[in-house]
Amino acid sequence: MPSPNVVHEPARETPVIAEVDVLVAGGGPAGIAAALAAARVGARTMLVERYGYLGGMITGAYVIAILGVGDGHVPVARGITAELRRRLEPFGAVKPRNDSGDYDVDPEVFKWQAQELLEEAGVRLRMHTLACAPLMEGGRVAGVLVESKSGREAIRAKVVVDASADADLAFRAGCPCDDQTHEVTLALLVEGVDDEAVKDFQRRHPEEYDEIMAEAKRRNGGGLPRRNRLIKGIDCADAEQLTRAENEMRRDAFRSLMYLRQNMPGWEGARIPVTFPQFGVRLGRRLRGLYVLTDEDIRGGRLFEDGVARLGLYFPDWGPTYKLPGLRWDVPYRALVPESVDGLVVVGRCVSCDYFAGNTLRLIVPCLATGQAGGTAAGLAALAGVAPRGVDAAQLRAALLAQDVYLG
Ligand SMILES: Cc1cc2nc3c(=O)[nH]c(=O)nc-3n(C[C@H](O)[C@H](O)[C@H](O)COP(=O)(O)OP(=O)(O)OC[C@H]3O[C@@H](n4cnc5c(N)ncnc54)[C@H](O)[C@@H]3O)c2cc1C
Repeated sequence: MPSPNVVHEPARETPVIAEVDVLVAGGGPAGIAAALAAARVGARTMLVERYGYLGGMITGAYVIAILGVGDGHVPVARGITAELRRRLEPFGAVKPRNDSGDYDVDPEVFKWQAQELLEEAGVRLRMHTLACAPLMEGGRVAGVLVESKSGREAIRAKVVVDASADADLAFRAGCPCDDQTHEVTLALLVEGVDDEAVKDFQRRHPEEYDEIMAEAKRRNGGGLPRRNRLIKGIDCADAEQLTRAENEMRRDAFRSLMYLRQNMPGWEGARIPVTFPQFGVRLGRRLRGLYVLTDEDIRGGRLFEDGVARLGLYFPDWGPTYKLPGLRWDVPYRALVPESVDGLVVVGRCVSCDYFAGNTLRLIVPCLATGQAGGTAAGLAALAGVAPRGVDAAQLRAALLAQDVYLG
């Protein structure tokens, strides 16, 4: 008797729309860097992205703070990280935050310039397309099955780079993964608040002001709609939980806004002009690869023979980016490579690391760095006809140094 809880889909023929050397799934910072790097070593490269624009959290969730570029003395992050900044500066799209090199980007210029950079490098872009499953052949990843308005299609690739932020392809290819819940948030903007009128009211009626604020916060789960509110304990790979969390945050933000409009002088004309399309997920599913980078490795400044990204920032959990004086640590290439599945490299937020190291590795600068390393490795592997695990670390490091990547 067939189970009522499953359906058997009929076998079908799926059109192959492209055959490339490297296929990158996901167009966030990690995927952008990976596709650029793969194309620049000479690999025919394609990038698929589920939304219609590039940038991932930067552009889709308004995460515009690029932190940990330098340590106050040395510009630690170079390579594509530095190139992006140079690209954005002439358009007034870089706003320094401090004298350590941290800055904010203009997300719309970022979308435009990321797309220009990839097209100039010869990367074929396929937007509005979800990478749903790895195309498996003989136990190895040989491409990706995608779904879009065009239907279900296949893309063959010698190497696939999983830049989905949640290790979607690695997980579906059967790689062991680690998965912990983390905070999620809905990024939104509030405009039209007359701050002077609010301050004036607070000065004249402090008790009433406190009462109204307390009620507004209560209606929004403890935060004002102006600040990012967080929900903890969400499984970021579960669409049901994501749906509930996002709906709840949108509803509460508007409830609080409407209450303030009616009760707080200065908020009468306030509005939420945008809630951003990409739900803010801090950390989700991660690959468990040939090496699992630990928080201790980072804190202890561990360097590796197969180090492919050297960084100087440390962000163990909530709070400011810690810049331990002179701290340097490496991401080993093995943290990007699955234990047993071939044809796949993982970059960005979902590289192989423990939960606490993940808090540092998920920042944009490390994601750009692992993206550049993983894309270069994928390109070299595809061109040499070897599996990613067969890429010689010394050759990979030499290729990265030639791209002005900082390796010490
Ligand atoms: C609220 C919040 C605040 C943050 N603040 C900072 C900060 O101040 N500074 C900082 O450096 N970092 C910050 N971060 C972390 C940082 O923004 C992300 O961890 C980083 O952007 C991850 O990069 P990524 O490329 O791995 O993934 P993402 O940026 O998430 O990009 C992944 C891309 O892949 C696409 N995608 C996913 N799955 C698929 C699929 N199956 N097929 C096709 N496309 C797919 C997505 O649409 C997306 O474009 C913050 C994160 C959050 C949530």
